Amino acid sequence: MIIVSITGPSQAQALRQMTLSRRYASLFELRLDLIADAVPEALISAAKRPVVATCRPVWEGGVFSGSEQDRFAILSRAVRCGASYVDIELAVGARAIRAFAAAHHGIRIIVSRHYFSEGTPDPRREYNALRSVNSAVMKLAYRAADGGDIGPAMRFLQLARRDRRHAIAVAMGEAGEASRVLYRVFGGWATFAAPEGGVPAADGQLSARMMHDLFRAHRLNRATKIFGVIGHPVRYSKGIHLHNPLFQRAGRNAVYCRFDVERLASFMQNVFPALSGVSVTQPHKLSIMDHVDRVDDRARRIGAVNTVFRRGGRLVAENTDAAGALDAIERKMRVKGKTFLVLGAGGAARAIIVEALQREATVFVANRTRVRADELARATGCQAVDIGQVASVDIVANATSVGMAPRAEESPLTKGAVRMKLAFDAVYQPADTRFLKEARALGAMTVSGAEMYLNQAAAQSRRYTGVAPDRRMMRRLLVEALDAAEI
Ligand code: NAP
Repeated sequence: MIIVSITGPSQAQALRQMTLSRRYASLFELRLDLIADAVPEALISAAKRPVVATCRPVWEGGVFSGSEQDRFAILSRAVRCGASYVDIELAVGARAIRAFAAAHHGIRIIVSRHYFSEGTPDPRREYNALRSVNSAVMKLAYRAADGGDIGPAMRFLQLARRDRRHAIAVAMGEAGEASRVLYRVFGGWATFAAPEGGVPAADGQLSARMMHDLFRAHRLNRATKIFGVIGHPVRYSKGIHLHNPLFQRAGRNAVYCRFDVERLASFMQNVFPALSGVSVTQPHKLSIMDHVDRVDDRARRIGAVNTVFRRGGRLVAENTDAAGALDAIERKMRVKGKTFLVLGAGGAARAIIVEALQREATVFVANRTRVRADELARATGCQAVDIGQVASVDIVANATSVGMAPRAEESPLTKGAVRMKLAFDAVYQPADTRFLKEARALGAMTVSGAEMYLNQAAAQSRRYTGVAPDRRMMRRLLVEALDAAEI
């Protein structure tokens, strides 16, 4: 069940939000504390979905500041107009909740607890407290400071499932996003989503459309395999827009989420056991190696991992970035025996250098901070140079972040400073960078970072599912996700 929270802030906006969100909603929650001029009769009759009435007081994170008597009068009115559920805070006490239920025959109570203390709640203690009220639904909400903090929500829902009780558990904030998507996998009854055409009722709420169409949260179940990206930040990661539609198209019971993780060890201990595989991005490409059973040779040579998956009960780590870049380049030009200048000395540069050397190119590296280029050259066996020393090479690969949106007007190289036959850019947003455009204008072939992205994502998808994904569909999805004309 996806419960779309209707937030107004005006009655007219609330009505519009219901119209726009109805196709995604199993229920609507009317946030009567947020809708300034709410007329519950009109809202409930327009809903055409069962309604949860909520009037959250200031002391529990809402905005209603009137008396408790007035608040309960608003909720009573909503019940009389046909609300099916009323959300009441555990903090008002079991006696008041039971009295409200007794006075409103047939109403189902969602007893809720919003945990505002430091750290995460103890799921069993919170569960027992909510359970003691014996309501139709129990709801726990708290703030996740990091990806591993969704653990208590998972355990709260598991307790409810064992008990055959309806429960909702939400880890709020960006780091808690996956708790909202995965509720059914852990046995939850419902999740909350933000209305189309309105603001979220709580921090971290995803739009109803995203929850329904992209994640298909309402269709997941206990057998759903969970994949995702772990890193910090992951907000702009494109993986959710590729892997979810691919799973859907292939008829797989699988989902791909964003896990915003800073404390890797805690995430690996509390959440990762429930996952089938992950894409790994910065800052964990190196540190993840301490948490897996096997690191393949290429990833070990590169010193970075971007994919972790389960094989035969073991956790295997690989790097699909390096081959992703070189395969994209080699579709236009073989690198064996060619001169190959890499700009940059970070993770992408290192992956490209190691793979280009493996494929027998003669590799040079140049970097803004020369000492990092020297270190990388020593570690990999290529040669560090200053750009001014290089007049002409076969291939130039930009592996710096220069030219990446929003600073798309920048280029890592002055136009014409180095003659080249092929220009490759690891930057994929935009898909066609200034560096590539200028190289093309001077007659070079060009390869976009979007091709590298596609290759590495296709390789990941193959590791996750055991079969090659539909490349044409992936390309189309990436074009949409990058908002590009083509790639
Ligand atoms: P990183 O480890 O942070 O390294 C960044 C590199 O860029 C460093 O060498 C840095 O030089 C250089 N740099 C940053 N700003 C600069 C500036 N203003 N002028 C000159 N050099 C500058 O990053 P990374 O993980 O290697 O990623 C690099 C790029 O590759 C990013 O744009 C990333 O999105 C892209 N990438 C693409 C894919 C794909 O699938 N297409 C995969 C991975 C990465 P200093 O050492 O001097 O700081």
